[in-house]
Amino acid sequence: MKIGILSVGQIPPEVLAELAQGIVKIFPDTACSIINGSLPVPERALDRKRNQYNSSVILSDVGVFSANKEKYDRVLGVVDVDIFSSGLNYVFGEAYVPGNAALISLWRLKPEFYRENAGTNVFAVRMLKEAVHELGHTLGIQHCPKSYCVMHFSNSIFDTDKKQTLLCDQCYLQASLAISNLG
Ligand SMILES: [Zn+2]
Ligand SMILES: [Zn+2]
Repeated sequence: MKIGILSVGQIPPEVLAELAQGIVKIFPDTACSIINGSLPVPERALDRKRNQYNSSVILSDVGVFSANKEKYDRVLGVVDVDIFSSGLNYVFGEAYVPGNAALISLWRLKPEFYRENAGTNVFAVRMLKEAVHELGHTLGIQHCPKSYCVMHFSNSIFDTDKKQTLLCDQCYLQASLAISNLG
């Protein structure tokens, strides 16, 4: 699977590079590169009452971008604004299930957001978990009932911290099959 990581708004390149290094260790037969340049955070995604951005609107821009970049099987957008999805107060990310595009937000993954005094690794691990989760969705994997599996739904950062970065055996099998079918 060829994954392109796309910054939506300004994301430090070293953050994206760290993410790319992590992702290739999780999915089989996968290469991951950082796309040059960035997409703007779409102004139309901003809900002024909530002061949050609609994740589906941003995801659709990533999807359109992905459709025009045939060299990538999947494009993962990374944004650093607070995002929500209809019916949810906030989300860590969103993806097409299955589809060509996924999105994660770094906003609520930072220890500072929770006034935590956490080690530096905490943020990177959370980011990887959310990226793997959303990319898993693009391969057609639904939420997994096992709370340790990265495909388990995260209702809060506690759920994210509790689960591992890896797919459980069943989800891994599903991912492998989907990746081999990419041709
Ligand atoms: Zn999910
Ligand atoms: Zn699973």
